[in-house]
Amino acid sequence: MTIQKIRNALKVIGTDKLRDIIIKSEKENLEYGLRFCKNEHITTTEMCKGKSCKVDLEECGNKKLIGSFHTHPSGDPDDIYYVNLSEGDIEDSISNNESFACIGLVQKQKPTIKCYLPYYGVDNNIAIDSLEAKDNFNKKMTEYNPGRTQEVMESLPLSKSIELHKLFMKHHTAKKRLEEASDKAFYKLRNEPNDGADLIMEL
Ligand SMILES: [Zn+2]
Repeated sequence: MTIQKIRNALKVIGTDKLRDIIIKSEKENLEYGLRFCKNEHITTTEMCKGKSCKVDLEECGNKKLIGSFHTHPSGDPDDIYYVNLSEGDIEDSISNNESFACIGLVQKQKPTIKCYLPYYGVDNNIAIDSLEAKDNFNKKMTEYNPGRTQEVMESLPLSKSIELHKLFMKHHTAKKRLEEASDKAFYKLRNEPNDGADLIMEL
């Protein structure tokens, strides 16, 4: 994923709309967000709104999730917590295997977009390990217990349930490492020029 590809994705929303969303978000002190999806063309999910917007970001269905945009409203323009991706944003974006994450905020009185490329300052190995561990667990679970029901789980042969348990523990451990690395990356970004962003656009 290159910077140009991020620009192309943002064009799908359009500069005017991005500016409007950022200003609206700041006024209402509410988060807005969406994800970018792709098969042949880049599309977006519906814009979501609200405090828990990040976790409720709609998924791409049968298209490939490529990136996301969400706003960081701030009552206090000097509050540095809002100027880059949060710990949760970093972890969420890596867990979803996004190729980029953008935030929109009002900075120095200007609606601004900041985009970040993988893995947001998290060590590549930690990011890839967590993706692989999650994938391995999900694949096996889909194979052995596609509906993820308690009944099927209880009727699995011991060897299979041990196998699933081991994969779950690996996934869990990798997730913990990713959480810790995301926390560190968050503080690191804040101390970098341009808050570590790979692309900054004032709108
Ligand atoms: Zn955020």
